Amino acid sequence: MTEIRRVGKLPCGEIEHGFVLPRQSPLGIFDDQQSQPKGTWPIAFLCLPHGLAWQVTPDMIHLDTVQTVPPGLHEASVWQVEYECAHNNCGRHWTIYTKHSTDADPDYVVLRVLNANPTIQCEGEHVVVFDRYRMKAQHLES
Ligand SMILES: [Zn+2]
Ligand SMILES: [Zn+2]
Repeated sequence: MTEIRRVGKLPCGEIEHGFVLPRQSPLGIFDDQQSQPKGTWPIAFLCLPHGLAWQVTPDMIHLDTVQTVPPGLHEASVWQVEYECAHNNCGRHWTIYTKHSTDADPDYVVLRVLNANPTIQCEGEHVVVFDRYRMKAQHLES
């Protein structure tokens, strides 16, 4: 079975990763073809396999045909990781998104992001410092 969904593309070096946007999430409502992204775009999206973070803009989102995953199979979904920058006394709050299996433990997803340690520019001319105790992961309903 296939369905038409909104898919984001990450141009990660030579290859391109796709991720299926949730129908309804803080990123916007995508349950019909007319809806536009809302919320805070562009979003930061982390490619876990390569440890690279990308800015995804709404023009990188397209309608595409995707395979529907039967319930119980290892489905991947978009995870939202909220964190606080641990650089000195920075404490700024940011959100990064990534793709991971839906049934993972949120703490494990936090560890994966921590291990990937992507380079993200924070405000104040420094690079974001991650601290596992100041990170919270949750998967967004597909
Ligand atoms: Zn990649
Ligand atoms: Zn900071």
